[in-house]
Amino acid sequence: GPNPVHELSNNTGKKMTTTPAEIVQRARTAFEDGRTKSLTFRARQLKNLIKMLEENETEMLAAVKKDLNKSNMESILTEIAIVKNETTSFLDNLKEWASPEKAAKPLVNLTDDALIYKDPYGVVLVMGAWNYPIQVALLPFAAAIAAGNAVVLKPSEISEATAEFLNKAIPKYLDNQCYQVMCGGIPETTELLKERFDYIFYTGNSYVARIVHTAANKHLTPLTLELGGKSPVYIDKSADMDVTASRIVWGKCINAGQTCVAPDYILCNKEVEAKFVEAAKKVLKKFYGENPQQSNDYCRIVSVNHFKRISKLLNSGKVAVGGKTDSQEKYIEPTILIDVTATDTVMQEEIFGPILPIVSVNDVNEAIKFINSKEKPLALYIFSNNKEVTDEIINRTSSGGICVNDTIMHLSLPSLPFGGVGESGMGCYHGDAVSTVFREEAEYFEKSA
Ligand code: NAD
Repeated sequence: GPNPVHELSNNTGKKMTTTPAEIVQRARTAFEDGRTKSLTFRARQLKNLIKMLEENETEMLAAVKKDLNKSNMESILTEIAIVKNETTSFLDNLKEWASPEKAAKPLVNLTDDALIYKDPYGVVLVMGAWNYPIQVALLPFAAAIAAGNAVVLKPSEISEATAEFLNKAIPKYLDNQCYQVMCGGIPETTELLKERFDYIFYTGNSYVARIVHTAANKHLTPLTLELGGKSPVYIDKSADMDVTASRIVWGKCINAGQTCVAPDYILCNKEVEAKFVEAAKKVLKKFYGENPQQSNDYCRIVSVNHFKRISKLLNSGKVAVGGKTDSQEKYIEPTILIDVTATDTVMQEEIFGPILPIVSVNDVNEAIKFINSKEKPLALYIFSNNKEVTDEIINRTSSGGICVNDTIMHLSLPSLPFGGVGESGMGCYHGDAVSTVFREEAEYFEKSA
């Protein structure tokens, strides 16, 4: 059925000045005149994008603060620096990634030419989500530029201030025909999706992903779906509890839980649970003081609708830590719920907020059974100093990525492709993996005569 997260998208009610058909036609005309094939052109665009990030840092920080109350430090680390670093690496790799690859040749073809060309797809649509409104919009956007495509960027209307910033800033720095921003909510995006694209890169929930997939299917448009879901954590009795609590609490509370790879829920036995709750209390105090509402480092929920949705989840199980809310500020205290069962509301959907339920399991086998009874998650977390237990979980489960004895950090390695499987997505990106996302491979063979 419809994902509750989905139903909260708004209609911005703003009139469109340019129609989606006009936007896409403009991009296509520009792509067809061949300008994006030039590596010099691409490099200039990427440098201008970096310049945009550097010259507008204050404005960007203010926009993300307005949308999510993200602290400057967090925004720099999880939004701006990531895009800047990756764009710089695209610049460094531009030539290598664009050059035809020499294919292996058997003896009989020794004097012939065999190459694999890396062609851009054409006009790419990038659809962003609101939770990391700079990162998930600009990272694929920059990658599509690097690969030589024209791009239409559709930021999320829910992170309104950031969407407005992107809409205003991008045309000042980049080629106005090749790279365009279209803002809007469901009606506008519905119209946009009727257009023909050559590639679609979507980040968001799995309900809308189906709408995007259907639209892409009409034109056989290839696509990447970066989705989310309930990422489980298993804590083994062998884990160091101070380290474990500190890393889980950090991963859960960053962006107030509104992170696609946030640890969603914990599986452990009752003994481990008691130790974890005590350790987590200490960690929370260390991170956010006595009252997280007064901490500068703690985010707010993005919208009233999401605030209401998450607040209802507090009724599952029993509150062991936290539990306070303030609707005026869209504040939800970091909360740990115990005595939660598989049928409780909090276990039916991706939480996407600072609530951490603990479901009791007796052992690792029960945990594996539980994980496998759910959709394949984007991330799977294991806290254990027992290699057998860790290996057992890795071998018997399937997920987009695994991180042992930490949370979220697997995303920080450019050498690790990032993406989901099944309900958590298809395709991947980040770092080197990006070089293949926005290009198609065309084979070239020339016989010597
Ligand atoms: P959202 O509501 O901003 O939606 C994403 C995009 O879809 C937006 O651009 C929006 O305008 C568009 N959209 C919404 N409803 C639509 C409709 N009916 N028809 C056409 N377009 C529509 O963001 P969201 O989906 O709430 O984002 C949260 C989800 O994204 C979570 O599930 C999270 O885990 C996931 N996410 C994944 C990643 C990743 O990289 N894997 C990153 C961030 C978020």
